[in-house]
Amino acid sequence: MKRERVELLSPAGDLERLKIAVMYGADAVYIGGKQFSLRSRASNFGLTEIAEGVRFAKQYGARIHVTVNMLPHEADLEGLKTYLRELERIGVTAVIVASAAIMQIAKEVAPRLEVHVSTQHSTTNSSAIAYWEKKGMDRVVLARECSLDEIIATTKASNIPIEAFIHGAMCISYSGRCVLSNHMTDRDANRGGCAQSCRWKYRLYENGEAIHDEADPFSMSSKDMMACRYIPQLIEAGVASFKIEGRMKSVYYIATLVKTYRMLIDEYYEKGVISEERMAYYEKEFAKAENRPSGVGFYAGMPRAAGHLYEESRNPLIQEFIAYILDYDEKTQMAYIEVRNHFAVGAGAEVFGPNCLNRPFVISDLFDENKEALSVAKTPMQRLYMKIPFSVKRHDMIRRRRSI
Ligand code: SF4
Repeated sequence: MKRERVELLSPAGDLERLKIAVMYGADAVYIGGKQFSLRSRASNFGLTEIAEGVRFAKQYGARIHVTVNMLPHEADLEGLKTYLRELERIGVTAVIVASAAIMQIAKEVAPRLEVHVSTQHSTTNSSAIAYWEKKGMDRVVLARECSLDEIIATTKASNIPIEAFIHGAMCISYSGRCVLSNHMTDRDANRGGCAQSCRWKYRLYENGEAIHDEADPFSMSSKDMMACRYIPQLIEAGVASFKIEGRMKSVYYIATLVKTYRMLIDEYYEKGVISEERMAYYEKEFAKAENRPSGVGFYAGMPRAAGHLYEESRNPLIQEFIAYILDYDEKTQMAYIEVRNHFAVGAGAEVFGPNCLNRPFVISDLFDENKEALSVAKTPMQRLYMKIPFSVKRHDMIRRRRSI
């Protein structure tokens, strides 16, 4: 199999996030339509939005994958053929599918669409991949429960492209094989309704006796996966696509992760090595996206207790993302911004963007839309003017900086 340069595959929950992912460096973006998709509740992508996303991505040479990954009951199949034909017609590259029925129908009615076997299939070995290859599938997304050694061995033994998760949330249960949410809330995790019941706080009792400190609730949540240290080995093994989890995540999260992985991957292709110092830098950048504790998932083998958050996390939530840049006047050096989190004049900040890397400054001048001076910004989504002493662009982002 010819080895292509690895694809960086970003999630997006709406058009704004799709465009941010593409502008910040994703090679491909996966989205869920309003129909036939898990997380359909979270999706804003009707066919019109998907078509606009495809047009936008093409300008940057990027591709759009659409999840059609529900496990359909009989009534759910209605309209599927028309939907698949429409996705093919508007230029979607691939559908990500979990159901064998949908795979077969997609191949019959929309032969130009690639069909990628969803991670919901829990594919963990090369024999399973050979099976999917025989069925005409174009790519397999491995289960998140594979170790690095398994990913390498499986990829080397396979004839079709392999996609592996490199970052994002993990299920405490085997991915896609959990009925906790169904049981607790009547919301079906396999039809897009997971209520993340594993992350709730529980008090544990046995025969009426508390078996866990009642003041210290128990949770079953996993640490998030961050596999950046394995990128060089995964590239060398020939993994075709690196997938970031998180269609529900914010524009800031997507921008931070995509930009940082873009830099890391490009640096590896350029230099053939990532030094320890550079890897530490990238880890620090990833940590700016979210301060939920992270681990390496299954990359180093079966996660032990340290890979889970059995106790409620006591990390205070740090809101790093303070504003989104809507416009910039080069003459006055005033940026028109949209506030995302509280900040005050005098605070250290940095700007990052598709073409801007962490430029620091101190917030000195802040005005409302009536040009009244302000000392703090405290209302999310409020539009204000802020002085930034260097050139910035629309779609750049401002985040807190601890030291200038
Ligand atoms: S309840 Fe938790 S473990 Fe189950 S599917 Fe949802 S996120 Fe995964």
